[in-house]
Amino acid sequence: MVILVRTLIAFGPVPSRRLGRSLGVNNIPNKFCSYACVYCQVGKTLKMEIKRKEFYDPEAIFEDVKKKIEEAKARNERIDYITFAPDGEPTLDVNLGKETELLTELEIPLAILTNSSLIWCDDVREELLRFNFVSLKVDAVSEELWRKIDRPHKSLKLDMILEGMLEFRKEFRGELVTETMLIDGMNYGDEFEKIAEFLKELKPDIAYISIPTRPPTEKWVKPAKEEIINQAFQIFAKVVDRVEYLIGYEGNAFTFTGNIEEDLLGITSVHPMREDAVNELLRKANANWGIIEKLLNEGKLIELEYEGKRFYMRRLPSRDSSRK
Ligand code: SF4
Repeated sequence: MVILVRTLIAFGPVPSRRLGRSLGVNNIPNKFCSYACVYCQVGKTLKMEIKRKEFYDPEAIFEDVKKKIEEAKARNERIDYITFAPDGEPTLDVNLGKETELLTELEIPLAILTNSSLIWCDDVREELLRFNFVSLKVDAVSEELWRKIDRPHKSLKLDMILEGMLEFRKEFRGELVTETMLIDGMNYGDEFEKIAEFLKELKPDIAYISIPTRPPTEKWVKPAKEEIINQAFQIFAKVVDRVEYLIGYEGNAFTFTGNIEEDLLGITSVHPMREDAVNELLRKANANWGIIEKLLNEGKLIELEYEGKRFYMRRLPSRDSSRK
């Protein structure tokens, strides 16, 4: 059944470490995912799913994105990509193909950040081919680490996912990147060599190495130590021409599109904002910290600390700490 109630589907544009200025599309309700990654910044997976479903009306998504683009254009804000980066796994949306068809009309390149878990399905691969930029998650290629870090749906098979990625690579003509999240306390052993072997075959345009920079679902999750990050970099760089770190802060260039409450809640539902970024956005909107106090008091925003920095996030069911 299609959810007709319009939530904040399009958000931003937000500064993206990979995509410049990206207008986000939140095409998945909080929080349907096929994984429950220990480092997820959206919070706990509430609906562990691998069956694709209808969530929102594709026309409603299109209209919401179009409206945000018009608002951003009126403010001379640049948009480099329309990016599917939702509150869960974007390929769970059975209407993804229809949505890309509609959005192509807007003549802005399309990007998607997927956990790759459904890429073994023919229909998912076909729909991903319509994107200009596809980011695939490759946190591990060994069963044990994959289960430990990504905590996948019990029916998923790692070998089918890896095969699916290689199959996709054969046909995809856009920019393909991989992202490998490194966390502290994992026994990586010879995992980096194994990932490198896979990357050698996959041939991504860029292999990104990232660490958690925003508050994770599991409080014990910390960024991997520098020597581990460097070790992964050196090993990947032997087989991939471009390996890059995604470990810096993405900056504060968030956009005010006319309604500060809507902007704050739309962005922070998928993208926790650092205190200095919130201040910068308030400044652009000519608003003051009172609006944050109000949203905190109304229970719409929450405040969290991570690695010595204060972050603000929208209160979502997946971030409700009382939920088990
Ligand atoms: S990080 Fe992505 S794939 Fe992992 S649980 Fe969160 S939304 Fe799902």
